[in-house]
Amino acid sequence: MQPANLPALEQRTTIFRPAPGTVQRFLVVSHDLVALQVHWTVKTRLCVGDERCPACYQGLQPKWLGYVAAITSNGVPGLLELSAHAGHAWSERGGDLHNHVVEISRPNKHVGATISQCERRTEVSHTVWSNEQILDQLCRVMQLPRLRNYLTNELWMQAIDTAAIAQLRLDLAAPSTAS
Ligand SMILES: [Zn+2]
Repeated sequence: MQPANLPALEQRTTIFRPAPGTVQRFLVVSHDLVALQVHWTVKTRLCVGDERCPACYQGLQPKWLGYVAAITSNGVPGLLELSAHAGHAWSERGGDLHNHVVEISRPNKHVGATISQCERRTEVSHTVWSNEQILDQLCRVMQLPRLRNYLTNELWMQAIDTAAIAQLRLDLAAPSTAS
């Protein structure tokens, strides 16, 4: 089923990252949190896990990040990025926070962001981003293959993995092996 009333996805995707010392409110427009493992090499890259991942193979520790589709109080759609700390808080609240207004606060840079308030909105929101749409937007940001070019999810996942491995290989091969 096609979800109705989607925000314009083809615009540049905004990733909301709670900065230290801020409190921000968002309307959640997805049912699930899409979790990824990433590496920071030249930029944020997808970790494909296990021995297939060139970064893990070199002993680099992957980092957990969670993403939910969210709209700011000014009506800007995007993806809210949560660290593992906030991700735990999220799942403790039951996981599905669709149509909830959440307040994300981060007291200072030594503390991860967390959910300081969460309220179900009485007005029903028909905007729902699926996990595929969230992942597709993340692929756009990370310059990985997009959903529409592939027939099945399985082929799409394979293409993402292949591209992510190539990115990591390129990043890791660049300066450090020169000597
Ligand atoms: Zn990895």
